[in-house]
Amino acid sequence: MSVLIYAENADGKFKKSTFEAVSYARAIADQGNTSLTAISIGNVGADELNTLAKYGADKILNVSNAQLKNFVNQAYASVIAEAAKKEGADVVVLSNSFSGRGLAPRIGVKLDAGVIDGAVALPEQNGGKFTVKKTAFSGKAFATVELSSANKVIALTPNSYKIVEVAKAPKIEDFSVDVKESDLKTILKDIVRSTDKVSLPDAEIVVSGGRGLKGPENWAMLEELASLLGAATACSKPVSDAGWRPHSEHVGQTGIAVSPNLYIAVGISGAIQHLAGISSSKVIVAINKDAEAPIFKVADYGIVGDAFEVVPKLITAIKEY
Ligand code: FAD
Repeated sequence: MSVLIYAENADGKFKKSTFEAVSYARAIADQGNTSLTAISIGNVGADELNTLAKYGADKILNVSNAQLKNFVNQAYASVIAEAAKKEGADVVVLSNSFSGRGLAPRIGVKLDAGVIDGAVALPEQNGGKFTVKKTAFSGKAFATVELSSANKVIALTPNSYKIVEVAKAPKIEDFSVDVKESDLKTILKDIVRSTDKVSLPDAEIVVSGGRGLKGPENWAMLEELASLLGAATACSKPVSDAGWRPHSEHVGQTGIAVSPNLYIAVGISGAIQHLAGISSSKVIVAINKDAEAPIFKVADYGIVGDAFEVVPKLITAIKEY
């Protein structure tokens, strides 16, 4: 047995969720007393590869093929599966990011592997059984799933495993691949970011607003709170439906599922469809003027009060801190 981790980057920089996935993959390799290889695809610089080297890989494969500069689902899946075969890896780990969710089933098909997406804990390996805890039903529940296949693909939920630095000096090798034309049917040419703000799925802190904020003009205070905390902003579905906030911020069953260390819900009632997207959050703080609001049933800390009084006080307190 050995383990392969796909080290995802964004614009040539490894993401925090990548370092979590490498640490997680290292722990799986240690469970089996085996080696860990990381594979990076897409023209990542030497400094970044050296940063990746801190998190426990025994070897790093670097793919810098010009055709793979931008993410291409099918082609990346082929390269990762090829690397897994070459390294004899029977466990492939990736981050349960937008690209990871696209890659995992494709790699699974290529390796005839069982696939777990949304993993939140290390696998348990007892008596030949390999089970993994994962989120289920859009985050409303947790499931434990047994993988009986020889090969396994696991996509790790961001913010669910701690980053651990390991003193190793992995070899960094170029991994050359022949990209098949059939894998390049859809080519991403360019991405223009609409915002420089913290990305919602990766955010450690999320400040989220609901209909209790009355209108888009009142979001300035949430933006300020988020900026002070280094947080991403989010919202409930009616808020994005009304056009107060972009749909990319809509959290819940029909939106994005987040798993930050801290989720601050302001003027959000806590409908089951909203909770579906936030239940993996480590700590939930609710600010709502209705003491009976369902959000308080899931909140770790609750403030019963008017958001227009509480949030400015919070901002002042953080500034003074
Ligand atoms: P409301 O329910 O109107 O709650 C507003 C809250 O603000 C209230 O609790 C109120 O007490 C509080 N409030 C008011 N004024 C203040 C103030 N001044 N200070 C503090 N608090 C105040 N919703 C989602 O969010 N995400 C989803 O993915 C989603 N998917 C859905 C899918 C389906 C199929 C369906 C049917 C619904 C879905 N919904 C989803 C909608 C969901 O059912 C709720 O309607 C929605 O989450 C409510 O949004 P809200 O909490 O912002 O608004």
